[in-house]
Amino acid sequence: MTSHTAGRDRSRGDARAHLAAAHAGKGQSPLVRIALFSLRHPWQASFAIGATIVASVLQLLIPRLLGHAVDQAQGILTTAGEGAEQALFWSAMTLLAVSVARGVFTLLQNYFSESVGHHVGYELRLAFYDKVQKLSYSYHDKIHTGDLITMGLLDLDGVRMFFATGMVRVVLLSVLIGVGAYMLLTTDVVLGLLALSFVPFVAWRSSVAQLTLRATWIALQDKLSGLTRVMEENLGGIRVVRAFSAQDFELAKFDDASRAALELSHQRVDVRVRNTSAMTFSFFAAMGLVLWFGGNKVIAGEMSVGTLASFLTFMTILQMPVRQLGLMVNSFARASICGDRLFSFFDEPLAIDDAPGATDLVVGEGTLRFDDVHFTYPGATHPTLDGVSFEARAGQTVGIVGAPGAGKSTLAHLIPRFYDIDSGSITLDGQDVSKVTLQSLRRAVAVVQQDTFLFTTTIENNIAYGDPWSKETKIEKAAESAQLHNYIMGLPAGYDTVVGERGVSLSGGQRQRLSIARSLVLKPAVMVFDDSTAAIDAGTEHRIRSAIRRYAKDRVTLVISHRLSSLLHADTILFLEDGKIVEQGSHEELLALGGRYRALYELQTRPVEDIELGSAAQ
Ligand code: ADP
Repeated sequence: MTSHTAGRDRSRGDARAHLAAAHAGKGQSPLVRIALFSLRHPWQASFAIGATIVASVLQLLIPRLLGHAVDQAQGILTTAGEGAEQALFWSAMTLLAVSVARGVFTLLQNYFSESVGHHVGYELRLAFYDKVQKLSYSYHDKIHTGDLITMGLLDLDGVRMFFATGMVRVVLLSVLIGVGAYMLLTTDVVLGLLALSFVPFVAWRSSVAQLTLRATWIALQDKLSGLTRVMEENLGGIRVVRAFSAQDFELAKFDDASRAALELSHQRVDVRVRNTSAMTFSFFAAMGLVLWFGGNKVIAGEMSVGTLASFLTFMTILQMPVRQLGLMVNSFARASICGDRLFSFFDEPLAIDDAPGATDLVVGEGTLRFDDVHFTYPGATHPTLDGVSFEARAGQTVGIVGAPGAGKSTLAHLIPRFYDIDSGSITLDGQDVSKVTLQSLRRAVAVVQQDTFLFTTTIENNIAYGDPWSKETKIEKAAESAQLHNYIMGLPAGYDTVVGERGVSLSGGQRQRLSIARSLVLKPAVMVFDDSTAAIDAGTEHRIRSAIRRYAKDRVTLVISHRLSSLLHADTILFLEDGKIVEQGSHEELLALGGRYRALYELQTRPVEDIELGSAAQ
């Protein structure tokens, strides 16, 4: 096994493990599930929480030490003495040491909580991507790609950051506010209550603000998804946009979507600014009260200057974390929305999956059999295939014709189980396709689609996509059979030419030929050409067919084509109408039958003038 395969197997194994972990706590709230997922890194999580506790306790010591030092300094002023000065020096040193230690532990807290966040992000991303690979066609039929991308980026980020911005912050604030309040209240109840008076107000304000922010966040996410969708469609259909000079229309559409997002962003800023001002005001009001009452106590000799200083310092220290209550609430709100969406995605049952105890498909002689197959698309009211039965043995070519919408492509998509059938059976060498592993099945069945997707990489990699370790000669042979080799050799970089979105553009016919070569490399037991030669001229198609016939000796070939001339050589031709096979036989037999096939054949072979004259006469 090469290092490449080792890497691939490791990634797959890791992704599976992370996806399984994402299922932990199914049925529980999203926040519990995020916590369970984050705690898969117990060491880092414990260090983060431990460092947070130590840092906050050290933080609480600072006002005490400062107050003590102020009293010592005052003592020196009133009763000067050698010992007092030394004590003050040591107090200052202790204060410095505690501050440095607090800084170090805060650093550790940030380091470990970020580390947990990044690991969680990496693992969720891998699990997400693994799940995306397994999604069935029916899921893609109902969800927009833009929404999936948003989920994989924004939702995942909201979940990833919950440990650092939510869980760790709960610990930090609990210790700071809880222990701090206890220390203040045991020192002086009234002054303690005054010092803490801004806390409930800020907590209330930030909660109200966060509820508003949460609502606008959902709306903003929705608008951003819409924006992605508009942009994606525009880029996907860029040629149509240009051809119809629809730039202004497209710009207006994008402007509408973006204006809505801008308004929401404005609302969010407004909520934030108002609340920040209210919170700052309440803090300084509380500080003023402490100064007033505390000052009076100091004047009355009931309290030392140092104690008052420690109250004020404590308030200053507490200010930031209490303001962060808002961020914490935000983190909870965001994680709960994002987590809900993300975990629902992970929980989504796979419409198409390996049956329990599925075994690998063993390809023997290679006989494909449809037996009374019925199929209805999810959500559709009418069946698309209605009792289809036929058999094709290795070496045979089966042609499929019929009007658009008759169900030809659908029939092809059922063989590699892109969808599952309602009733009947599809077997390959007697093995039901629904009972074998998907991977082995899809390796044995290649569907060459009409519209070909090219990855942004070299021609060689594109052809070898299904089997990245295939030898150069095999790739070249496949390209030769697909009548593409000569064209590739004419390119300056040959097989190393980069194609795809950011590479050399290939014509429709060249793309189709590349797609044919990509399937030929796999040497599948069943090859389906789904109108995949529509953009190729008849002469080239003929040469491809002759070349493939050599390949096709020991495999089943299904050819779906509008052009009956492509099917003349087929052993059997199926005529599909409304999901039923209405005529079946060889070209000659079907012509002799004098039915629909013959009518279609005559239509396609009749000279154009005849058709025009015929229609003029009517
Ligand atoms: P053909 O290949 O003969 O032109 P198809 O197999 O593509 O026909 O489509 C058969 C019918 O199934 C059509 O009515 C089409 O609208 C419907 N159909 C095709 N794909 C889907 C899908 N993903 N979801 C729902 N209906 C579909």
